[in-house]
Amino acid sequence: MREIKLAQPQLGSAEKKAVLRVLKSGNLAQGPEVAKFEDEFSAHVQGRDCVAVNSGTSALHLALLSLGIGKGDEVIVPSFTFAASANAIALTGAKPVFVDIHPKTFNIDVRLIEAQITLRTKAIVVVHLYGLAAEMMAVQKIARKHQLFIVEDAAQAHLASIQGRPVGTFGDAAAFSFYPTKNMTSGEGGMIVLKNPEQTKFCRLARNQGMQTRYQNEMIGFNLRMTDLHAAIGRQQLRKLQSWTSKRIEIAEYYSRNLENILTPHTPAGYVHVFHQYTLRILTNREKFLIELQEKGIGCGVYYPTEVHRLPSFNRRVNLPETTKATLQVLSIPVHPGLKKKQLVKVVSTLNRISANGK
Ligand SMILES: *Cc1c(COP(=O)(O)O)cnc(C)c1O
Repeated sequence: MREIKLAQPQLGSAEKKAVLRVLKSGNLAQGPEVAKFEDEFSAHVQGRDCVAVNSGTSALHLALLSLGIGKGDEVIVPSFTFAASANAIALTGAKPVFVDIHPKTFNIDVRLIEAQITLRTKAIVVVHLYGLAAEMMAVQKIARKHQLFIVEDAAQAHLASIQGRPVGTFGDAAAFSFYPTKNMTSGEGGMIVLKNPEQTKFCRLARNQGMQTRYQNEMIGFNLRMTDLHAAIGRQQLRKLQSWTSKRIEIAEYYSRNLENILTPHTPAGYVHVFHQYTLRILTNREKFLIELQEKGIGCGVYYPTEVHRLPSFNRRVNLPETTKATLQVLSIPVHPGLKKKQLVKVVSTLNRISANGK
């Protein structure tokens, strides 16, 4: 049997046709496809303004800059995430302040946020890790009390929701990623979702050299534009996102019903988990699982093996015990919508055999 991949972008004839259409048009850089992609994405975040950029990291960076965050500010962020969540903060000149996670959700532990708030704190960056929304009602309460901005890192959480309200609509700004391993792709790309028109205006200017009208630069800006080629792919993917998401959830439910003696992901009541990753907690001998799964041709991964605060790029001496524990215990298995029933059966039987032998 062929290898079962951990992640696999779903690309078909619709994406091919869309790219060829743009190539034939001769308009490759940011143009009408990007504008349409923004409008269509907006429909999934309750009509909020959307600004497309070249990556999820750029989206987070501009989202923070649009709120005036910079040198001298502190921004609260979990350490159990991809480094980009903290990189974007550091790139503004602000200091990331790392907070531990809740062991059940892998998301920021809202009970620990207030202890880290100082006079310099300007914002909380929440990460909806693995496709599960953070506890946004509690985060909003803290943000209101201390007058802090909320920025959602929704790179892994397209269409995730709490009581029907989609991620991207809880904060002052949010960032989505369209990297090929995410729940939908544009090749590379990102989307900024904004609550206030002033921030939207800033993001549109900042992504394009500070220009609205060509050669009339109003401020110093970047070139973080998305191309029409990428937007054309993203638009096709967006049409299939809901059905892929349902498939991910179905696969996750199958795993959770059939895996034995393994800690499976927790979804709190009222939350829609979109399973960017299906992540197990392996309490003893994760190495054995990794080796035996690989031997059987089953893709698996550790997201993330190192706490962001301990990476050489940050090197902070803080103690976040649940984050450290998670780096040692997590194991993600294939949950992408291209998986076949036969492959799911193999994943389950292999895992059940490894966990039974391990006792
Ligand atoms: C992928 C990812 C990003 C960055 O997105 P890119 O498009 O790769 O720049 C940021 N945060 C999290 C949690 C991610 O998973």
